[in-house]
Amino acid sequence: MSIYDTLGVPTVINACGTVTRMSGGIMAPEVAEAMRQASVACVDMVALQAAACRVIRAATGAEAGIVTSGASAAILLGAAACLAGLDPARMNALPAVADGRCEAIVVRSQRNMYDRALVVPGARIVEVGIPDRYSGPGVRDAASWEIEAAITPKTAFVYYLAGAQSRPRLTDVAAVAHAHGLPVLVDAAAQLPPSCNLQRFLREGADLVAFSGGKAIGGPQSSGILAGRADLVASALLQMLDLDVFDDVWAPPAEFAGLRQLRGLPHHGVGRSCKVGKEEIAGLCVALQRFAAADPKARRAAWLARLEGLVAASGAAISIGGGPVPVAALDLGSEDAATRMQRALAGGVPAIQCGLGRREDGILLFNPVAMTDEQARLVGTRIREELA
Ligand SMILES: *Cc1c(COP(=O)(O)O)cnc(C)c1O
Repeated sequence: MSIYDTLGVPTVINACGTVTRMSGGIMAPEVAEAMRQASVACVDMVALQAAACRVIRAATGAEAGIVTSGASAAILLGAAACLAGLDPARMNALPAVADGRCEAIVVRSQRNMYDRALVVPGARIVEVGIPDRYSGPGVRDAASWEIEAAITPKTAFVYYLAGAQSRPRLTDVAAVAHAHGLPVLVDAAAQLPPSCNLQRFLREGADLVAFSGGKAIGGPQSSGILAGRADLVASALLQMLDLDVFDDVWAPPAEFAGLRQLRGLPHHGVGRSCKVGKEEIAGLCVALQRFAAADPKARRAAWLARLEGLVAASGAAISIGGGPVPVAALDLGSEDAATRMQRALAGGVPAIQCGLGRREDGILLFNPVAMTDEQARLVGTRIREELA
């Protein structure tokens, strides 16, 4: 009997991908076992984050890294680090910034619902650029000179949403920011796979990069990574920790050596509500090592085979497309028909939840990452039954 039976919560087949509302994905037994082992002993959390730092360093090439309670938490903590640096007085004051050096420059076309994580610790978003390639009448987006023109003494950092369509290119944005001594904080939450992206954004000039641990990495649902410049990562860590400690019992390890030069210890920081547990840190470390070591071709082939099992069981003409993650698209011809199919799948036992991003076009999407092979075949069978 599963804990979900005990709690009386029906499980679902999640064909949406690792979305948060559907509880992310399914962890490998090795990751679950790491979490279990972590849960039955106590450790010093700074020592555990130092170990995670070594794992993240190896996987990303970053100077340093910490495990966070998600990519959103990593963005919040990264912003707090950019706002306060290693100044405990600035940390204590957040989200207030007395000298007003709190502005985050954001390209208008990169605004998104996750960027409010910048505002929580005290940043103020300054938008630049006119993305008329999106609105239709033009082909251009923001240029890096427009970012430069928005820089003032109040600018604290530049935020960048990583994505295939994101403009200007990260290398150009980083060049402008660095010329003015400003860090670039990159949201790369959903940019894995390909696993080479673990290193790419840092190589292209990011000072901090945020990844989700609960998406394709396959870590605990509420885990994430903040990786990058050692001083900024150390600041982010400090603003998340339980700091109800006297200075004389505070001895940061070499991984966070920047914290040895503080003029004093701040109190619990603005990131304290982003607390991450030892179980998540242990699970993320194992998941990240497995993700980085896996053969990308074999990983994609396994996802593809899963979807081919779905298509075969459905007996329908379902096309498989997509980029690093293959996705099956079931074309039902109209929004009404797609809505009927979606409701039928969600109304069965177990409920099947699929991607609705193209429902207006009459298309339902099936993502393999958070399903088992057996579940994918069951989805196909249910589609065949509904179509009959
Ligand atoms: C998923 C996502 C997040 C949030 O990640 P969590 O790990 O769930 O906190 C942030 N930004 C983008 C672009 C995302 O896709």
